[in-house]
Amino acid sequence: MAPTGDWEGYWGPPTSTLDWCEENYVVSYYIAEFWNTVSNLIFILPPIYGAIQSYRDGLEKRYMIAYLCVTAVGLGSWCFHMTLKYEMQLLDELPMIYSCCVFVYCLSECFKYKKTINYPLLFLLIAYSTGVTIVYLNWKQPVFHQVMYGTLVALLVLRSVYIVLWVYPWLRGLGYTSLTIFLLGFFLWNVDNIFCEKLRAIRESLPPLVSVVTQFHAWWHIFTGLGSYLHILFRCDGLPFPAALGGKLLPWSPPAVQLEALLAEHPGCLVNALFPFSVWSDALGCSPFVPPQLWWVGGWRGRAQSRE
Ligand SMILES: [Zn+2]
Repeated sequence: MAPTGDWEGYWGPPTSTLDWCEENYVVSYYIAEFWNTVSNLIFILPPIYGAIQSYRDGLEKRYMIAYLCVTAVGLGSWCFHMTLKYEMQLLDELPMIYSCCVFVYCLSECFKYKKTINYPLLFLLIAYSTGVTIVYLNWKQPVFHQVMYGTLVALLVLRSVYIVLWVYPWLRGLGYTSLTIFLLGFFLWNVDNIFCEKLRAIRESLPPLVSVVTQFHAWWHIFTGLGSYLHILFRCDGLPFPAALGGKLLPWSPPAVQLEALLAEHPGCLVNALFPFSVWSDALGCSPFVPPQLWWVGGWRGRAQSRE
């Protein structure tokens, strides 16, 4: 029997091994989890735009591939949350593994300027993807998928931290912003799973438009979508930002990147970055209200520029 709060809809009873906290078919008869579905637009539209722009700007193909991988995950996730069918679940979960393998490859090869192929790593990642696919098709245990996906994400995080700590410290702001946003998404994903009963009860007492903000799985999509997008920008690597983007701020750069560029131009702290033209911001210096991480980013930039 469907849990309380779930309605019946166009795609019939769910056959997926997971059914998230959002009440099924409440918003639309044709979309099982409406907010979890439409929030996938952040995985679909910005990366398509990013892929087109990186093609136009003549960036390497790997950036286009990375963007399109995110789009593929978004499309799979859209189908899964819309139907809650097992086949669609696979279309969401398996591309998550494949695209992460692509990201791991790109990130581990990021210091190479020559076009060479790392065959051992390529083989290892293909073997990993194939292995996970075979096991998961036979052992329908969502936790297995989550652990395998988490392992790849952990590799990406470790590699990113290594890059910003020891290789390209000027990418610190962008790298940590992407990581923080992703971790925030993961935190909300857990809140949605653990406190589902309470969240459903709260939603019943709230007006529909207000209760939407408690759809934390949709927030997970939004934050991980944005985090992934920023991480691809982070991987426009090998060159100091923003030189990697042709030394200019692209109009489609998300706010965090705009902030990054502002910080580059106005070293000091976030206050300076937010109010670059105000006279008093320089006098204020770093406000105590600015998070230490951003203060530090600004401070680093200040030191880097003073060395020039
Ligand atoms: Zn989802």
